Amino acid sequence: MTDFAGKNILVLGGSRGIGAAIVRRFAGRGAKVAFTYAGSQDAAEALAAETGSEPVQADSADRGQLISTVSARGALDVIVINAGTLVMGDPLTLDPDAVDRMININVRAPYHAAVEAARAMKDNGRIIVIGSVNGDRMPFAGGAAYALSKSAIQGMVRGLARDFGDRGITVNAIQPGPTDSEMNPSDGPMAATMHSFMAIKRHARGEEIAELAAFLAGPHGAMITGSMQTIDGGFGA
Ligand code: NDP
Repeated sequence: MTDFAGKNILVLGGSRGIGAAIVRRFAGRGAKVAFTYAGSQDAAEALAAETGSEPVQADSADRGQLISTVSARGALDVIVINAGTLVMGDPLTLDPDAVDRMININVRAPYHAAVEAARAMKDNGRIIVIGSVNGDRMPFAGGAAYALSKSAIQGMVRGLARDFGDRGITVNAIQPGPTDSEMNPSDGPMAATMHSFMAIKRHARGEEIAELAAFLAGPHGAMITGSMQTIDGGFGA
C-alpha cells in the first residue's frame, strides 16, 4: 500500500459514494484530505469525523465558489475531481435546465478545477477526474447528455496532460462501470440490465475505484498521463 503521509489532497464531491471511498483511502494512509460536498451536510460531517478529513461546502456548479475553494487549498499534491450528477431520460422531454446543470457539474467544473489546481500544484502532482465508461459506450436510450458529459472529460484529460507534463503533473480519467452508490444502487431497477452487458456481472465497490485512484496518485503512476483508466467489469469490452 502506498503511503500518502503529509500529502495535501482535495477530493471534489467526497461526501458520499465513490468520492467518500476515495477520501477514506487517502486519509487512511496519512494524507491531509479536504473534500467538498453540495447538499449532504450530515454525511459530510460523519465522514470527516470518521477519517479526520476536512469538509468544505462548495457547489461545483458555482464556478466562483469552486475556483476559490480549490485555490484556498494551496499547493496540492493530488486533486480528485469526482463530483458528478446523472440526468437520464428521453431527450425530447428532458428539462434543458437540468441538462445544463449536469454539464456545468460534469464538464465545466472539472475543467476549471483542474486548471485552478494546476496553478499552485507541486511538481509531479496528480489530477484525477472520475469519468465513466459511458464516455466510451452508451448502450441504453436516454443517456446521451450524460454520455456527452463523460466523453468531454476524455478530450480534456488528453489536452491538459500535454499542458502540465513539463512539471511532471499527470492528468488522467478513471472510467468506472456500474458502481454501487446512491446514484447507481447495486439492487436498483436497472442493475440486471447493466450486468447483462458485463463480463463480470456485478457492480464494483467504491473501494475498488479508490484503489485505482491511489495507484495513479502514487509513485508507480508517474508515467501514466493523458489516459482513460477503465474499471468496468468489461461493460465496454
Ligand atoms: P453519488 O450520487 O452517490 O455521489 C455524488 C457525490 O458528488 C456526492 O458526494 C455529492 O455531494 C457530490 N456532488 C454532486 N453534485 C455536486 C455539486 N454540485 N457540488 C459538489 N459536490 C457534488 O454518485 P457516485 O458516487 O455514484 O458517482 C461519483 C462519480 O462517479 C460521478 O462523477 C459519476 O458520474 C461517476 N460514475 C459513477 C458510476 C456509478 O455507477 N456509480 C459509474 C461511472 C461513473 P452532495 O451529496 O453533498 O451533493
